[in-house]
Amino acid sequence: MAHRIGRQAYRRRAALGIAVYLALVLAPVSLMLLSPLEPGREFLREFAVALGFVAVGILGTQFAISARVGRLKAPYGIDAVYYFHRRMAFVALALVLTHPILLFVVTPDRVELLNVITAPWSARYAVATVLGVAGIVAISVWRREVRLRYELWRFSHGLGALTILVLAALHTLNTGVYTSDWKTHAFVAYAAIWVGTLGYIRVGKPLRQLRNPYRVTEVRQESPDVWTLTFRPDGHPGIRFRPGQHAWVTIGRSPFSLTEHPFSFSSSPDREHGGFDMTIKELGDFTSKIGEYPPGTMAYVDGPFGAFTTDRHTADRYAFIAGGVGITPIMSMIRDAAERGDPTPMVLVYGAAAKQDLVFSGELDELSQRLDLEITYVLENPPEGWDGEVGVITDDLLKRAIDDVDAYEYLICGPPAMIDGVERALGEMGVDRKLLHYERFEIA
Ligand SMILES: Cc1cc2nc3c(=O)[nH]c(=O)nc-3n(C[C@H](O)[C@H](O)[C@H](O)COP(=O)(O)OP(=O)(O)OC[C@H]3O[C@@H](n4cnc5c(N)ncnc54)[C@H](O)[C@@H]3O)c2cc1C
Repeated sequence: MAHRIGRQAYRRRAALGIAVYLALVLAPVSLMLLSPLEPGREFLREFAVALGFVAVGILGTQFAISARVGRLKAPYGIDAVYYFHRRMAFVALALVLTHPILLFVVTPDRVELLNVITAPWSARYAVATVLGVAGIVAISVWRREVRLRYELWRFSHGLGALTILVLAALHTLNTGVYTSDWKTHAFVAYAAIWVGTLGYIRVGKPLRQLRNPYRVTEVRQESPDVWTLTFRPDGHPGIRFRPGQHAWVTIGRSPFSLTEHPFSFSSSPDREHGGFDMTIKELGDFTSKIGEYPPGTMAYVDGPFGAFTTDRHTADRYAFIAGGVGITPIMSMIRDAAERGDPTPMVLVYGAAAKQDLVFSGELDELSQRLDLEITYVLENPPEGWDGEVGVITDDLLKRAIDDVDAYEYLICGPPAMIDGVERALGEMGVDRKLLHYERFEIA
């Protein structure tokens, strides 16, 4: 069994991650404190320049945040990391707008620099950077409204981010304030870290995946629109993951193709063969054909990732709450508990639209005989004669299903609306938020 990680170790890692993040964000602005300095400048001008440098720091670290380095992200959970990435994009936008506005306040004549036909190159780069940041944020916010395909968005997002970084660096170097002398080299080296990070994401990682391929060995239908695929490593030891974690997979295409998708492991960790199962619901372009891949299809895997695991949240009792295909990581944890003969009391509240959507219910019923596991099924559209719970997961239902609500560590997975509803209900019941852990099946 993979060893369980203590809370203290996670806290230490989390604190270290935050310290490294702050150091990287503040590295450019620290150039303002080191010799050679710019003499005799007003506070507001210096403040405006400082905001510009912090913006560059945030824009650069956005690459690191999206780089999916498992060990760096382990303490936070992927949804929290991407949430932070999105929030920091707004902070960067606010800073790149405030930076020139304050400079215009100090020297109103500088407004002329907005005329890109007459302005010097440093100002042109600045205007292009501001437009670029505003554009990339707007497209990401309204991706669905403008019906931009996810893959196309992802490709343009990476390219756009790189362009913005280069433009911001050119602006900073061209302006030459606090970037002359040795600082030029320091600043170029700093920008190169982020270009290198993007290279690692787009080239380094896919190359590593290419050297460690997997094959789909089995495709099983679980319900009319849910399929389980079994993956086995092809010529290497395979993956070591914790129950409940997820990975990004590319199936039947090159790992360079930008068509990878995140799925949770639904099997328990396979310590012997390094393989795994993923259970996937048909939803859009990629998943709607998931049942059609023939056994033998090559696959590439980036992972494992995620903090949604009983290994991380050790507890005396677990309450698992699943909505629809959100059962997958929970199934991995319950299967793992069964294999280890884990005596920990567990309850599972499992909601789905109809009976046929309760995938794994047969196996779960069987496991409930072997484990200290109580299951409550909830159906929105129950069949005739259904004697289980009906509707959606409410606070009343949770009170009925879970005896002493404060005695549990909660692991909740499903569509965002269900997670929000359960979080609200548990909050109203007075459950401490620290006991709630989520996996949202949505990133952008
Ligand atoms: C951590 C995590 C674990 C997940 N585990 C499972 C699981 O075990 N089983 C399961 O059925 N689903 C799971 N999902 C959801 C699954 O990733 C999406 O349903 C799938 O990527 C949709 O792809 P599509 O092209 O079929 O759908 P589309 O219609 O193209 O996309 C629907 C939505 O899914 C998201 N999405 C699409 N492509 C990607 C992508 N490449 N990367 C990230 N998000 C994308 C976007 O928000 C998009 O708007 C998980 C998601 C996350 C974030």
